[in-house]
Amino acid sequence: MMRLVLLGPPGAGKGTQGVLLAERYGIPQISTGEILRDHVQRGTKLGIQARSYMDRGEYVPDDVVVSMVMDRLAEPDAEKGFILDGFPRTVAQAEALERALSASDRPLTAVLKFSIGGEVAVRRLLGRATCTSCGRTYHLEFKPPAQEGICDVCGGRLERRGDDDELTIRRRIAVYREQASPLEMFYVERDVLYQVDAEGTPDEIFERAVTFLEGLA
Ligand SMILES: [Zn+2]
Repeated sequence: MMRLVLLGPPGAGKGTQGVLLAERYGIPQISTGEILRDHVQRGTKLGIQARSYMDRGEYVPDDVVVSMVMDRLAEPDAEKGFILDGFPRTVAQAEALERALSASDRPLTAVLKFSIGGEVAVRRLLGRATCTSCGRTYHLEFKPPAQEGICDVCGGRLERRGDDDELTIRRRIAVYREQASPLEMFYVERDVLYQVDAEGTPDEIFERAVTFLEGLA
């Protein structure tokens, strides 16, 4: 049974690892952003509640977000486990999640923290480029296209992400670290936090995560 939470600063490759882990274990990768959009679109009770906060430019309260997450975790595809990405973000959310999971007797298996040095993260994020027509992603340093500025697959034009200037990136990383450290302590205290060295290739990082998870069984 794999019930996982992924933590890690921007640039740690958490999203990529989430996809790989979801494939390996046949469990869904659940992002709160997607759940929220889905509820709002379907006009569910929770969606309408969430919308009223978003319309006022306020954060959706923790209990609404947690209800949505628990609702999603009750779906059949999450029976064998799940991967939460981007949630919880705060200790209050982590506490609410813990209560809800223990009520359904499904405690977390592990919290994987993908850790990476600040400078490595900045270099990774700075080089990212996306194809403007097919959406494929490249990295100017680590995964460059065959021809500069042109997508290998469709010949579309590559563009750097707008929010990827160095100052913005450094600020995002700093904000993340400040938010994440109490959350990490929360999981350290519960003895479920495992630090995965997130420097290296995606395959190397994935191997490290899997080696740890297999060791749990
Ligand atoms: Zn393309």
